[in-house]
Amino acid sequence: MRAKDWSTHPLGPPETWTQSIKTAVSLCLNSRFPILLWLGPELRIVYNNAYIPFLGETKHPAMLGAPGREAWSEIWPAIGPMHDEVRAGRATWVEDLQFFFARRLPLEEVYVTFSYSPILAEDARTLEGVFCVCTETTERVLGERRLSTLRDLGLRVSEQRTVDAACRKAVEVLDANPLDIPFAAIYLLDEDGATARRTAGARLSDDPSTFPTVFPLSEHAAHQPWPLAAVARTQKAVEVRNLPSRGGIFTAPLWPDLVQTALILPLEMQSQSALAGFFIVGISPRRVLDADYRSFLDLVAGHIAGGVADARAFESERRRAEALADIDRAKTIFFSNVSHEFRTPLTLMISPLEELLAKPEGELPEDGRVLVTMAHRNSLRLLKLVNMLLDFSRIEAGRAQAAYEPTDLSRFTAELASNFGSLCERAGLRFDIACPPLPQPVYVDRDMWEKIVLNLLSNAIKYTFEGGITVRMAATTDGVALRVSDTGIGIPTADLPQIFKRFHRIEGQKGRSFEGSGIGLALVQELVHLHCGIITAESKVGRGTTFTVGLPFGTGLPAGGAGRGSTLPVPHLRASGRLRRGGAAMAAQR
Ligand code: ADP
Repeated sequence: MRAKDWSTHPLGPPETWTQSIKTAVSLCLNSRFPILLWLGPELRIVYNNAYIPFLGETKHPAMLGAPGREAWSEIWPAIGPMHDEVRAGRATWVEDLQFFFARRLPLEEVYVTFSYSPILAEDARTLEGVFCVCTETTERVLGERRLSTLRDLGLRVSEQRTVDAACRKAVEVLDANPLDIPFAAIYLLDEDGATARRTAGARLSDDPSTFPTVFPLSEHAAHQPWPLAAVARTQKAVEVRNLPSRGGIFTAPLWPDLVQTALILPLEMQSQSALAGFFIVGISPRRVLDADYRSFLDLVAGHIAGGVADARAFESERRRAEALADIDRAKTIFFSNVSHEFRTPLTLMISPLEELLAKPEGELPEDGRVLVTMAHRNSLRLLKLVNMLLDFSRIEAGRAQAAYEPTDLSRFTAELASNFGSLCERAGLRFDIACPPLPQPVYVDRDMWEKIVLNLLSNAIKYTFEGGITVRMAATTDGVALRVSDTGIGIPTADLPQIFKRFHRIEGQKGRSFEGSGIGLALVQELVHLHCGIITAESKVGRGTTFTVGLPFGTGLPAGGAGRGSTLPVPHLRASGRLRRGGAAMAAQR
């Protein structure tokens, strides 16, 4: 202000200015806040030091004293109407208004919050100028805009299950921010690292040669303007300038300007040294690629790489789970087939043995009878195992069909259990059955319930050498609980969670007989689950074990709750291909 020669200026020397203008100018020059004054009928400009950054090198100091409409011609369409408002006597205020200043670029995207208030003459009516306090909010507006893109990327990319979907979602998010991302393409490298494939793209040019779907890295020279091979080699971002002269013609989404610069960022996999691919992104022609813009794009690339890595991990986990399920299915089919094949010859062996045993005394030598009895007993044992395997694989394959019938479960259970009375007596064990009447019938498949009770009881006898066994049945709030307790050898705490697993047997556990396959409890658990029930075990080594089976009364099980393959309410489930009967005699063989 002091250095300028005002003597020939249309505003005249400052000492001739009116008192109101002098006061306003003094306020402006002494303020540390950016302030601009529009003075006189031509709205000539006076500003303070704090305002200089708005102008950049091209406008300062030429703008001092210049007529407003010319000096700020590029923003006049936006601010002209505000001057009209002030002229009409109304102060105005605007927040984060978008401007395109001729500053670091011919049209630089800038955001400003400012207020216009009238400078009135001493008569308090004549308008002598406009007092404008302003602050540039570009950094905050851009920061919020970019943060929102990054937040959306974080939310939407990481939840994708396939690599393609992750890339497509990422580009969809970037598409919503055309001001920072004029165009974007994601290329992923094949496993051999020799070919990059376009996985997703936003606002790519119409010319397919600019963004080929497949990009053999060895021939990168043929694919101007993208030096992907160089990025792959150095794993560093490359800035591609003067895009239009290199054949990359991209018009900015919201303006007629051509995009001049693009950035190719490597998509790095955190856990691996190899690259996942490349992120090619256009730089807004109205923003300088400064440190903030650059770090925003680095973060975008990081999100994309993270999304790709997550999706890849998910895909490989899914493939692994599918492979395991295949193995499991194959195992189930194998068990099922083998069990079938074993059963026929076993039955054919058992009947002649039974015929032999049925012969009157004397017809079979005594030592022969002993041997045949042994062969018969072991054949039955084998048949029982084969039958259990078959039951189990049927349930696994979802082919077990249960026929749930309303049953007086206390009575039925007591009947089943009573078959074990003589066995316990011979083994010198106490045997108590406490099954009082229940308030209502329970829906069970009777064959299945029989197998549950027989398996639990035969285990109890097998692993109890002194004391006794108790079978107790009681109503609970919404169903019934069967408790089979013994005073046997017990199960070590570490093994308790394992005992319901298929083929799990406790090492070194001594039972009444060595036979056993570890499938009994696994089958019991599956059968209980088919009834929407639960089974638990409590045990103390040397003190005994209690198995508790809880069942709902089951007037109608929830859809799908009746185990694999059954979806109808219990009463409607009728038998078709029912499980084979286990048989008390067979269970007692244990
Ligand atoms: P197994 O054919 O071996 O009896 P199960 O699946 O019926 O197979 O039982 C699995 C294991 O759980 C058994 O090997 C045994 O070690 C243990 N177990 C089951 N019931 C009892 C019990 N009442 N007391 C002690 N251990 C038991």
